[in-house]
Amino acid sequence: MVAVLQGLGRRHTGYGALPEHYPAVGASPIAALKHFSGNAWTPEVEQVRAEAYGVIARAVIDAAAAVPADTPRWGEAEVADIRRAAPDLAALTLRPDHPYPCTAGQYLTVSSDRHPQVWRPYSPACAPRSDNTLELDVRRVPDGLLSTALVNDVRPGETLRLGPPLGEAVLADGSERPLLMVAAGTGWAQIKALLEQLARDGGRPATVFVAARDDRDQYDLAALHDLVKEHAWLHAVLSAPAPGASRSAAIRLLRDGLRDYGGCAGHDIHLSGPPDLAPALAAQLLDPHADPELVRHDPVTATFNRSRPLTPAERFLEERDVPWINRTELGPPT
Ligand SMILES: Cc1cc2nc3c(=O)[nH]c(=O)nc-3n(C[C@H](O)[C@H](O)[C@H](O)COP(=O)(O)OP(=O)(O)OC[C@H]3O[C@@H](n4cnc5c(N)ncnc54)[C@H](O)[C@@H]3O)c2cc1C
Repeated sequence: MVAVLQGLGRRHTGYGALPEHYPAVGASPIAALKHFSGNAWTPEVEQVRAEAYGVIARAVIDAAAAVPADTPRWGEAEVADIRRAAPDLAALTLRPDHPYPCTAGQYLTVSSDRHPQVWRPYSPACAPRSDNTLELDVRRVPDGLLSTALVNDVRPGETLRLGPPLGEAVLADGSERPLLMVAAGTGWAQIKALLEQLARDGGRPATVFVAARDDRDQYDLAALHDLVKEHAWLHAVLSAPAPGASRSAAIRLLRDGLRDYGGCAGHDIHLSGPPDLAPALAAQLLDPHADPELVRHDPVTATFNRSRPLTPAERFLEERDVPWINRTELGPPT
């Protein structure tokens, strides 16, 4: 949990959370649990809860304190260009209003005035550029709040807010190991950024699997073809079943391809795609004795395959099934 908590801590600097807020955040659920647990609440339970919260809060606070004071909490970026890379996918070129110190492979959180309380993570699809622009590849997900706004509604000239760069799935410093990379869906954005960086650093043997649900889901393959044509060290495998195949058929095809690829001991491995995929592939690829440090992917979030996280306003308005609100007193729905 520590890596996840540290990421949470770094993000919370951007939300204005201060160390003095944490005792209240810890005390409130304990007070609520105590109130409703009746006899099940004992001093031992209270102590264990408090200790657990203490460990969590410490990890979050320490990670937040390690963020340099001059790191902007968030900045603004102008949407300089929008390219429709697929019917449901927009490649947005953003021009931040300050130098944006992102390393290839990191991600950042984004918000728009169209949904001011919604922040979602996206991976830049490019290595750092000299003109300080960056590209985000955003795929619209059904009923998705921010992705729908970014793909359907946002116009050039509009302003978005960007949180600071996050994530550790960058190229290992000074490594000369061969690379195995797997990109699924919009995970291709992060892998594209890593390949651009690798090319800039002189390259080393790399195999990239670009997987999709079916070949209509693969996008911007011209960039991959260009990279393969230009760099002899790069080998690419496209993995997409025939149109209409199920998600599990697509995953099976990818897993078979990786099995045929063979052992990857001593490789740097980068996995980018839906969060449920990375841990499953890591388990398949990792020799039980291999160094898990060599496998890099973004933190796995639990929002997947579940209804999306509620914004605070929605939580207040919609999550009424709490015992201390008597529904009959709320009146008829309006
Ligand atoms: C580290 C990281 C990097 C990411 N990089 C990118 C990127 O480069 N490009 C990109 O398009 N997305 C990326 N995502 C996903 C992105 O952050 C959002 O989850 C996605 O855009 C949906 O947000 P939303 O507000 O539109 O949907 P929400 O309103 O949060 O969700 C609506 C519904 O869609 C489902 N859902 C949420 N996300 C997805 C998804 N990605 N695919 C399918 N169903 C989903 C939810 O379960 C829910 O049912 C990344 C996620 C993480 C954690």
